[in-house]
Amino acid sequence: MRTGKGYTRLEPVKGIIKNIVNLNDIDSTKQTFHIEIEYEDAITYTCGDAAGIMLPNKDNNGDNTPRLYSISSSPSYHEGEIHLTVALATHENKNGSIGYGIYSKYLAECQEGDEIEFYIHQNQRFNLASDDKDIIMIGPGTGIAPFRSFIYERSERGADGRNWLFFGAQHMHCDFLYQTEWQEHLATETLNKIDLAFSRDQTHKIYVQEAKDIMEWIDNGAILYLCGTKNPMSKDVHQVLVDIIATQKSISLEAAADFIADLEENDRYLKDRDQQSGKPFRC
Ligand SMILES: Cc1cc2nc3c(=O)[nH]c(=O)nc-3n(C[C@H](O)[C@H](O)[C@H](O)COP(=O)(O)OP(=O)(O)OC[C@H]3O[C@@H](n4cnc5c(N)ncnc54)[C@H](O)[C@@H]3O)c2cc1C
Repeated sequence: MRTGKGYTRLEPVKGIIKNIVNLNDIDSTKQTFHIEIEYEDAITYTCGDAAGIMLPNKDNNGDNTPRLYSISSSPSYHEGEIHLTVALATHENKNGSIGYGIYSKYLAECQEGDEIEFYIHQNQRFNLASDDKDIIMIGPGTGIAPFRSFIYERSERGADGRNWLFFGAQHMHCDFLYQTEWQEHLATETLNKIDLAFSRDQTHKIYVQEAKDIMEWIDNGAILYLCGTKNPMSKDVHQVLVDIIATQKSISLEAAADFIADLEENDRYLKDRDQQSGKPFRC
């Protein structure tokens, strides 16, 4: 556990916004910002960590509790930078107008060259597996953030383990976050498989061959990662896994649920969880 400046909300460090871009296309109902922050302090982070973002005093209307954002960059590949993948949170006010989440609006309105304060929130329960292990990453919406970090890290390290990504969002043409980057990772075979579920385009099914492959990967020692719990896709993940394991191993649903519990117990099924409350993130 690293301690001191840059690792607690009491001692944040300063960074400069290097780049900010909305990843959703024009037809989308969402705005998700890819934000690159450069820093000079000698802080380090590992894949799976989050950044705690501080609000500048001038924007602080009494809410100065930092918000956490999973880091979507790789410490080896994107040296001296952290990247965030921030969904602008919206709600309808009582008078019918649109309201925004405080921190995500602050981040969405950042401009290149702006100064920003942050610290590294370490997450030792969501570490990237050793290079030889296969990994299955399930990340709907902004749940994809740590997996972008994982894949760049594995590409930089030349890791042998296979990588399989499940991503879900509303529409393929406007909500497929980091689409071109995933395509490049596929082309270079850093990413071995990708499975997409776009809820407004079509219903998603796990086909027989995919179920067989998932079982083969798990039996071969793959580590499963799940991030982003609010999206309906991730709520269904547990049931889908139970069904796959029960069918593929010809065992009861109860035995399949026990099989998954064993995976969790042995750190083979990791969910990105809040360190303090233990609750899955973003519930
Ligand atoms: C470990 C961790 C990692 C995370 N990683 C990411 C990530 O990678 N990307 C990401 O986008 N998020 C991530 N989050 C969530 C993030 O920390 C924030 O919770 C999120 O951005 C909302 O914060 P906010 O300040 O914008 O909204 P807040 O101001 O805190 O509001 C919270 C919600 O309430 C709604 N709300 C506010 N006021 C009202 C009102 N008067 N009436 C009705 N609704 C209202 C807002 O629209 C918003 O949806 C992560 C959370 C954790 C714990």
